[in-house]
Amino acid sequence: MITRAAVGIDYDGTIADTNAQKKRWIHEHCGIDIESYQCDRSSCVPIIGHSRYEDMAAAIYDRTWTLRSQPVAGALAALYELNTHYDTFIITARLPNRVAFAREWLEAHECSGLIKDVLTSAGEDKESVCLRLGISVLIDDDPRHLLPITSLSLRPLLLKVGLNSEQQAEITLPAYRSWQEVLEVLTP
Ligand SMILES: [Mg+2]
Repeated sequence: MITRAAVGIDYDGTIADTNAQKKRWIHEHCGIDIESYQCDRSSCVPIIGHSRYEDMAAAIYDRTWTLRSQPVAGALAALYELNTHYDTFIITARLPNRVAFAREWLEAHECSGLIKDVLTSAGEDKESVCLRLGISVLIDDDPRHLLPITSLSLRPLLLKVGLNSEQQAEITLPAYRSWQEVLEVLTP
């Protein structure tokens, strides 16, 4: 039996565009306009503060908003493409009770069959989850899950859709601005 390589993919802001919903929430509740790619926790907390970020997360990661979110541009096609080469896992930092909503979203978008499993990293770090599953690539929109990676067998890829090339050059991680760019480095 041939063992396929495995990839881990974040959910919020990487597969489902909950960042667009956060952008809207921040506009309505804080009166600030920020870009979607600034809506991951690492980028967003310094802008709106921890308390407001938690208020926002409680709303956006709940079932109603989760199911309303649109796919990140190119994400669903990327899941199909990656599935032809890799075992694909969703590795989310969502709390366990909110993981079910992500599963429901994936089913509604007819892509749950492309995914081996949807797992939470809550209570540990994503690197540990990936290494336990034999995952060799982790794709995430939040650098806090990628910067601490020390294992040489896990490759971090930061995906921030909408970033411009100057911002991309300033990021110390391997950073990509579209799912197409990610597929170019991961598929033959
Ligand atoms: Mg994310």
